[in-house]
Amino acid sequence: MARYTGPVCRLCRREGLKLFLKGERCYTDKCAVEKRAYIPGQHGQARHSKVSEYGKQLREKQKVKRIYGLVEKQFRGYYVLAARKEGVTGENLLRYLERRLDNTVFRLGFAASRSEARLLVRHRHILVNGQRTDIPSLLVKAGDVVEIIEASRQNGRVLESLEAVDRRGVPAWLQLDKKGLKGLVQTLPVRSDITMPIEEHLIVELYSK
Ligand code: SF4
Repeated sequence: MARYTGPVCRLCRREGLKLFLKGERCYTDKCAVEKRAYIPGQHGQARHSKVSEYGKQLREKQKVKRIYGLVEKQFRGYYVLAARKEGVTGENLLRYLERRLDNTVFRLGFAASRSEARLLVRHRHILVNGQRTDIPSLLVKAGDVVEIIEASRQNGRVLESLEAVDRRGVPAWLQLDKKGLKGLVQTLPVRSDITMPIEEHLIVELYSK
């Protein structure tokens, strides 16, 4: 499965929205969305015709995939899970994505972006309930404890990210012990914990065609 490895600011510019893919830079005036608020590429500044309903649904799906750094196959897998579950499919989908371990590590402030969080997990710097894990897609549950392994507690990148976490804020479903480099999953995330502007009903419409 090929993950996108090109320049990530292009992705934000394509969606016309800050997707916060680059850590601290996203909060500065160096952010490309602030500096060049138009679609990337040769015709980016040209006038664009009205987007069809299908186009809007497609863009919304791309946006959410990009926020969480997923490829189509993984993303569709979450949709299938969400559709099978009781409740509103779109909300279920976002709640599944939010529960991923890489997202949880990012939300707790141990990493400046989700891609950095994924590397922390992949390189086995993370414990879940005292066990090392290298699976970024692991879904956390209420009561889980996520922490940085002892040997990485002085890791400069982790400490820098934690310094910045106050500005970003930790969502209510997580409780951060900043000194202990440890986080508790207090409850499962709810829709209101996800504050990015996402119209998940468009994704559901797209997949249910
Ligand atoms: Fe997106 Fe961050 Fe780049 Fe801004 S700096 S365009 S928010 S990745």
